[in-house]
Amino acid sequence: MSGGTRTSGPAATRVLVINSGSSSVKYQLLDMADDERLASGVVERIGEPGGVADHMAALRQVSAELAERGLGLDSPELAAVGHRVVHGGTRFTGPTLITDQVLAGIEELVPLAPLHNPANITGIKVTRELRPDLPQVAVFDTAFHATIPEAAHRYAIDAATADRYGIRRYGFHGTSHAYVSRAAAELLGKAPAEVNVIVLHLGNGASASAVRGGVCVDTSMGLTPLEGLVMGTRSGDLDPAVVFHLARVAGLDIDAIDSLLNKKSGLLGLCGVNDMREIGHRMAADDERAQLAFDVYVHRLRRYVGAFMAVLGRVDAVVFTAGVGENSAAVRAAAMAGLEGFGIVLDPERNAVRASGARFVSADSSSVAVAVVPTQEELEIARDTYALARG
Ligand code: ADP
Repeated sequence: MSGGTRTSGPAATRVLVINSGSSSVKYQLLDMADDERLASGVVERIGEPGGVADHMAALRQVSAELAERGLGLDSPELAAVGHRVVHGGTRFTGPTLITDQVLAGIEELVPLAPLHNPANITGIKVTRELRPDLPQVAVFDTAFHATIPEAAHRYAIDAATADRYGIRRYGFHGTSHAYVSRAAAELLGKAPAEVNVIVLHLGNGASASAVRGGVCVDTSMGLTPLEGLVMGTRSGDLDPAVVFHLARVAGLDIDAIDSLLNKKSGLLGLCGVNDMREIGHRMAADDERAQLAFDVYVHRLRRYVGAFMAVLGRVDAVVFTAGVGENSAAVRAAAMAGLEGFGIVLDPERNAVRASGARFVSADSSSVAVAVVPTQEELEIARDTYALARG
């Protein structure tokens, strides 16, 4: 192992990754010497009955859980803390060492991500209070998408208005798209620069990206994570005039429409549940609403696959990741069905295998590989953090 700058005491090779969301704090402690995960956990229901009071209490609980196992925030092996931050705007296009100025910059971006950035900021502030001497790094969900060309990130609205208010496509799930596109190249036995891939991150939130030679050139999420694919509770794409119609005809105010589209739409809005496993069970019992929800979800996915094939021109692999992408053979099969004309041929047996590693699910005859690559967002954040903290 390389020595770094420390000359005495144990080598500081551990990174704590904090993902501080609106109602939960997730954490993982990783040892970067061997990528081993030493601890992980989640504190849920922050501010809800039966949960902890606030983010300060949640972070203290994380700290106590780690201390109990001899892995506390005060341990000398801890090199840095990495924070997932949802929105980096145009200012933060890579992992950034957190200073007062950087924190102020992230605060200025709250209007762009009112549901996410405030919780991220609280997580950073509390961790800094607990360990003010430790390097803390912000890793932005938007950063991987900073390379998207203007033709793909600019919305076709009045340019002056767009520029004044920072209205453009930013994209999210960037750490996942970055990690998975690289891992897919590795699976293909090639360097990232040599391959073009479409990454389908299908979790509760869902997004697609087009990655050319390791560089992201398009993505389905936009100004916020609402655009694009059908998600667990988000609508994804719709005619913007739906919003006017809901305001004028249904009499809903902006907050009600925001909540409708972000929290009560998607699979949940279509059939009453947002978990693809439950939808599978209901489809097996001939539930028509569940079947329709599945069909709408898959149709949208296929539109993006087709669009990104056209964006890339040549595609080496279509890669599925996150909860649904890694686990639902049915979604993968439906999304890839009938695409032989585009060189995509799934192997039903490979696709049906339940496994935890990165693997191909396409037939040997498929000229475009189809793969499943488990995402590792925390590891990606830890690597970015460690690289920056070591200088
Ligand atoms: P998040 O976006 O919250 O990180 P995940 O990537 O963990 O979400 O994905 C969660 C979703 O994955 C669940 O809502 C569920 O729909 C889906 N999922 C998990 N396991 C399975 C499975 N075995 N089959 C189908 N879907 C699954």
